[in-house]
Amino acid sequence: MPIFKGQNIVAFGRRFQSDLDCKKYLSEVKWSSGYTCRKCGHHGSQVRKDYSRTCNKCSDTESPGADTLFHKVKFGMLNAFHICFEMATPTKGMSALQVGRRYGIRPDTARVFMHKVREAMKSSGNYPMDGEVHVDEFVVGGKESERPGRSYGGKKKKVVCAIELTKEGKVKRFYGLQIKDFSAKSLRPIFERHISKEAKVTTDEWKGYRPIAKDFQITQIPSDFGLNFKAIHTAIHQVKSWICTTFSYVSKPHIERYLNEYSFRTNRSQTKQTIFHMLVKRMVNADKIFVENLI
Ligand SMILES: [Zn+2]
Repeated sequence: MPIFKGQNIVAFGRRFQSDLDCKKYLSEVKWSSGYTCRKCGHHGSQVRKDYSRTCNKCSDTESPGADTLFHKVKFGMLNAFHICFEMATPTKGMSALQVGRRYGIRPDTARVFMHKVREAMKSSGNYPMDGEVHVDEFVVGGKESERPGRSYGGKKKKVVCAIELTKEGKVKRFYGLQIKDFSAKSLRPIFERHISKEAKVTTDEWKGYRPIAKDFQITQIPSDFGLNFKAIHTAIHQVKSWICTTFSYVSKPHIERYLNEYSFRTNRSQTKQTIFHMLVKRMVNADKIFVENLI
């Protein structure tokens, strides 16, 4: 099966014209290395008209979307594919309200599905950033504090983020994690998850980074009103304005999902040709997530 490539919506529309086209695509992703019955482990099966497979031994029938993040999609696989395409390819994502309007789906239903897509977008953590890395924190929601330094209180959501720089000083990759405060303990996980011990990390002079410098190569320099951290501040500005303009309210459990979505697109800006296929593959390989675990 040729995988779908590119960002052309007309080509996408030509390739996927019905729910059945999408199920065929899913079945080929799901059983790309052969079929194994989920009940009895048998390998022989019959392919049904809707690309489900029925085990030759125990007769269990499995649909291509079963036990994936496409499990029991209520609004049709074609709509689901389009939403994935829209979330993967543009530089700016869409809100559940916009998606609901465009596909004739209730915003709540769209929101749940979009959170599943964001789960699939979550970083594997398998490719820590190396080379030149900058780390900084920011807050989202509520009024921006005029006071310099780190405020510990307030309703604002706190985020620590890291970028890997290209040789030209541009953003190559971005990761963000929600944190409860700016202590060393809260700042550490982004290092553990996303930064290699070989990376040359630069932060401003915040004391919270000092204990982490025992395990990572951290250089602390004055921020100089952001002049020393231009690339990361541009990225922070982008992610903040995207979150604030796209999502009407940012509830605590969700901010990390928005960060996942932002990272997924940013970190694949060089491989946009295959981004849709990569996303579908992740959706298929992830375990199905029940609504109650999402909200
Ligand atoms: Zn079986």
